[in-house]
Amino acid sequence: MQLSNSNLLQKNLFINDDWIEANDVFDVINPATQSLITQVSNGNETHTLLAIEAASTAFKSWSKQTALYRSNLLKKWFQLILDNADDLAVLLTTEQGKPLAEAKGEVVYGASFIEWFAEECKRMYGETIPTPAGNKRLMTIKQPIGVVAAITPWNFPIAMITRKIAPALASGCTVVLKPAEDTPLCALALAYLAKEAGLPNGVFNVITTTHAAAIGKVLTTHTLIKKVSFTGSTEVRKILMEQSSATLKKLSLELGGNAPCIIFDDANLEVAVKGAIASKYRNAGQTCVCANRILVQKNIYPAFIAAYIQAVQTLQVGNGLKNDTQIGPLINKEAVEKVQHLLADAIQKGASITLGGNIHDAGALFFEPTIITNCNNEMLLSKEEIFGPVSSIFVFDTEADAIEIANNTEYGLAAYFFSNNVHRIYRVAEQLEYGMIGINEGIISHAEAPFGGIKQSGFGKEGSKYGIEEYVTTKYLCLGIHNE
Ligand code: NAP
Repeated sequence: MQLSNSNLLQKNLFINDDWIEANDVFDVINPATQSLITQVSNGNETHTLLAIEAASTAFKSWSKQTALYRSNLLKKWFQLILDNADDLAVLLTTEQGKPLAEAKGEVVYGASFIEWFAEECKRMYGETIPTPAGNKRLMTIKQPIGVVAAITPWNFPIAMITRKIAPALASGCTVVLKPAEDTPLCALALAYLAKEAGLPNGVFNVITTTHAAAIGKVLTTHTLIKKVSFTGSTEVRKILMEQSSATLKKLSLELGGNAPCIIFDDANLEVAVKGAIASKYRNAGQTCVCANRILVQKNIYPAFIAAYIQAVQTLQVGNGLKNDTQIGPLINKEAVEKVQHLLADAIQKGASITLGGNIHDAGALFFEPTIITNCNNEMLLSKEEIFGPVSSIFVFDTEADAIEIANNTEYGLAAYFFSNNVHRIYRVAEQLEYGMIGINEGIISHAEAPFGGIKQSGFGKEGSKYGIEEYVTTKYLCLGIHNE
């Protein structure tokens, strides 16, 4: 891997502003070539305790700094990320697989959270409250909650980190981050740039590890950790939530989704095809907000499916570092096996493969852009995240049918629909049981907007003016006014 700034390739744990080498290492694999990129330090419980203590000590001074001071440091970090965007994109593509253009997009998107919260922290206003008693004055102030544990997934190795770390640091919290085992290098590069920006000792710590369960146990049970922010699967959420209960930690949980993408017969066909593809095939289908089920109204189905097949079959599969690649590899062998399992189940229950369906010639972790039709609610893929480049097409009759099928899931993260009828747009948007709705649009995430789900997709918002609220407490002050 060729980087102009070779310092971005860090291999050790980042604790209290120092690079700490562990006794043990683990392999970081390029999913496109399945070759070894490098080995990184394998952190353990002792390292995690050191990081928590460093973060706790740092909290004492960091939380007392002015918002302006923290804001200026965060802006330096933001700028350094942008200055190194090309290298970071190469690092990201190499360890995660997504096409370079998408990786660059993620770097810029990830950095945007740092800039956004560097501004938001200057507006962490308290309130004065009209008093019900003449001899009292009532007010609130906002204060950082304390040391935060952040646990993040591999599918957005930069943005999932900055979405948590930026509001935490901006508000005055300090952080111990455990990134995903598959993508530790972006996390360490971010730490390197944070150090370069001058973030004080212990404010941001990174533990790379293969011992997720053991480290997770320490983070969720330690009394000095006041908040756990987790993005990942519903299964791991259950463990973390249970472990966090004894010490009553504040939680933010960004979990899986099962996004419906509804194409109504009054949609602009071109916009719908483009939007559905953007939502479905980005990151080879490995996002929590990917269209998992594409619901097409009966009378537009022939026109939609013809245009959709035509567009999907042009998607270029290959190593993300190649210029023309639009779909990279899946993250690992298990991900490929899951896609194959869901396809086999769907076919056995009556689905037909209309396009693709096999491992791609580019290599063992590459999957062909696939479309399956005749899907129904009995199939596993109607309930589980596909997390691969597979469009499952359902056909519906009426608006009420579409809403019923769309809401028939335990998840409630993102939903999409395409329609040019303003009355329908309001009716449908209000009835879909999801935290985020894309209307005539397949890409919806922005630092300025609240990201988060309902139902089994979790709770808490990331980004937007709400994002920083997850890291502060509102303290109420009651001042007695006494006569002289
Ligand atoms: P995952 O298996 O739940 O892993 C997420 C993180 O949790 C990783 O860092 C993982 O470490 C760690 N982890 C695993 N077991 C743990 C344990 N027992 N205790 C503590 N930490 C533990 O999820 P994933 O497969 O990486 O990510 C894909 C999932 O994330 C999908 O369900 C996707 O929808 C969801 N996601 C949600 C959002 C959102 O904003 N709602 C965004 C992106 C992704 P290791 O990597 O070492 O196993």
